[in-house]
Amino acid sequence: MFKIDTSCKTMPHTPSAEGDVMHSEWTKETISSWLRTDSAETLRKLWSHADAVRKEHVGEAVHFRGLIEFSNYCVRDCLYCGLRGSREELQRYRMSADEIVEAALAAYDYGYGTVVLQSGQDHGFSTEWLADIIRRIKNKTPLAVTLSVGERSPQEFREWREAGADRYLLRFETSDNTLYHRVHPHRATDQHTRLDLLRILRNSGYEIGSGCMIGMPGQSYESLAEDLLLFRKLDLDMIGVGPFIAHPDTPLGAQTAPPALEEQDQVPSSELMTYKVIALARLLCPDANIPSTTALATLNKPDGREFGLERGANVVMPNVTPPAYRQNYEIYPAKACITEDAAACRECMKNRIKSIGREVGQGRGDAKRKESHVAPADADIRGNTE
Ligand code: SF4
Repeated sequence: MFKIDTSCKTMPHTPSAEGDVMHSEWTKETISSWLRTDSAETLRKLWSHADAVRKEHVGEAVHFRGLIEFSNYCVRDCLYCGLRGSREELQRYRMSADEIVEAALAAYDYGYGTVVLQSGQDHGFSTEWLADIIRRIKNKTPLAVTLSVGERSPQEFREWREAGADRYLLRFETSDNTLYHRVHPHRATDQHTRLDLLRILRNSGYEIGSGCMIGMPGQSYESLAEDLLLFRKLDLDMIGVGPFIAHPDTPLGAQTAPPALEEQDQVPSSELMTYKVIALARLLCPDANIPSTTALATLNKPDGREFGLERGANVVMPNVTPPAYRQNYEIYPAKACITEDAAACRECMKNRIKSIGREVGQGRGDAKRKESHVAPADADIRGNTE
């Protein structure tokens, strides 16, 4: 059994590329070598080490977050995303307040401890409209409410927090500024970087979640290693990572330009690379809540979710969006479970969790309280300005 040191300020023990267990500090180079390895024996040790740290720090419970994709409007134009504002052929929707509250109540009835209210960056609803929905959910249930509604103003963050929102998800996508701007066009109205916003969210009292995409065109192993180190610097409560999957009706989906990097330098947007990032994120941030995502289930329908859970993840996000809307929340096509209703989704996930010897989490599944957080502004990090 490995002796694992997972204190926040020292790096965990690190199996070397040869498979030995070493106690050393992780640098960008160390993490890059992990990301590059294709040794089955080394990877077996990585999975086992991540699973042991997961068990020790966040236990056997797998927490359910009921996902409500309440609007697919978006003012942004990210070059890979099926919801991008300029995609005119997409049928847009915004659920009514009553429909959203109803979906949250259904999630509560299913035994979930959290609902995630997710949308594109939709400026077609008012701050008060969403605050009222949060209040209604909090008045009727003990659910934790997570928001994932993009880049908003500090005032909106405060009002939603006062209404009862507990957590906020905002992925920085990549720590590489140049790469970020290549695929996320700047808007003249943007005032804050995403890292600024994460600091503001933290200071507003939210649990904060962030993450990156794996295998964006032009993403090197060193860049992805920087992303992983940034998770640690941000002291994230939640970490969401997923493979880069471009919708075919987008500029990057229809990409015919030559690759930005040589093949040996480009991170693949593969299932295996996603497991590596989940496992390394677990070792770098032992207490974080890390989902095994729909994107993994999309890449590997039979086993993707389970492999994610066995390699560091401890959260799943069953979709409770009414099926009539779900097909239009098409960030990328052929998403897993798009036609299943919420009850079928719950049963399927419960069975999958039991099949790997884990238990369904009870309660909200909050992040462990930390004595102090390293605010993103205090960390030595590069910012993204959209
Ligand atoms: S990735 Fe997010 S912000 Fe960008 S276009 Fe898609 S929904 Fe909008």
